[in-house]
Amino acid sequence: MSSPTKITGGCLCKAVRYEVNFPEDHDFKANSVACFCSLCRKQSGAVVVHVHILPRSSFTWTSPSATPAAPLANYQVIKDNLRWFCTACGSYLAWEGNGIIEVTAGTVDEEFLVGKKDGDGTVIEKGVGEQFCHPEGAVTWVNNSLGPVTEGIKGTRWKFSVAHGEKLPVKAAGGCLCGAIRYSVIFPPGHDFAMNSTKCLCTACRKQSGAMMLHLHTLPLSSFSCVAPASELGDYSRSPGYHRLFCKRCGSFIAWRQDPRLCG
Ligand SMILES: [Zn+2]
Ligand SMILES: [Zn+2]
Ligand SMILES: [Zn+2]
Repeated sequence: MSSPTKITGGCLCKAVRYEVNFPEDHDFKANSVACFCSLCRKQSGAVVVHVHILPRSSFTWTSPSATPAAPLANYQVIKDNLRWFCTACGSYLAWEGNGIIEVTAGTVDEEFLVGKKDGDGTVIEKGVGEQFCHPEGAVTWVNNSLGPVTEGIKGTRWKFSVAHGEKLPVKAAGGCLCGAIRYSVIFPPGHDFAMNSTKCLCTACRKQSGAMMLHLHTLPLSSFSCVAPASELGDYSRSPGYHRLFCKRCGSFIAWRQDPRLCG
């Protein structure tokens, strides 16, 4: 499918209109987000809001004017995070902050989002919806999931927002007791959870943890990243090539590593 170059959109009452000219090398997948956050929910009334992240420079308000004017207004829950909406009809159009704008997919004009239709309402020229709301994009704030209601929303699931720097996927974030060491894990596609779950009764694990038995999960090293100062990460080696990682501040045993594998 060729990538879309330009789309238009606007609010329900048509008073507010915008235009997007996608940058030439725009990555549709990386910039697609389905958001479960309470703020988007409140503002939209929907339990899932698909937005698309764009550099602010690729987005233009075309009505009522290029400079925001009534009925276009913004509401700030967090200072300098502008939640644009129409005061005449209430449509939630975009979130803006830090040089980016996230456009709500639902306000993209139907001929661009769904596609061009014939007189019977059958799509004859497919729109950009599948790229704008990429099914392999991000799903954010999944800690606000609603069980089977939101289960089917496709994408990589994050506990918080990828746009706000909290890159901790929901089932694989962790850290030590004192918080100095934090890590995240992105499971490889097709990761076999059952095969990689281990219960270890070895003396070394017992000594290091103080526990009789340790539940560990094996991962390729490439899927693990430590998002805390490496200076706090202790590395105890009993034999060459084997590393026992722990927190130097609180003593928590984090992981056992034998490149390229890791058990934590
Ligand atoms: Zn309106
Ligand atoms: Zn949100
Ligand atoms: Zn309100």
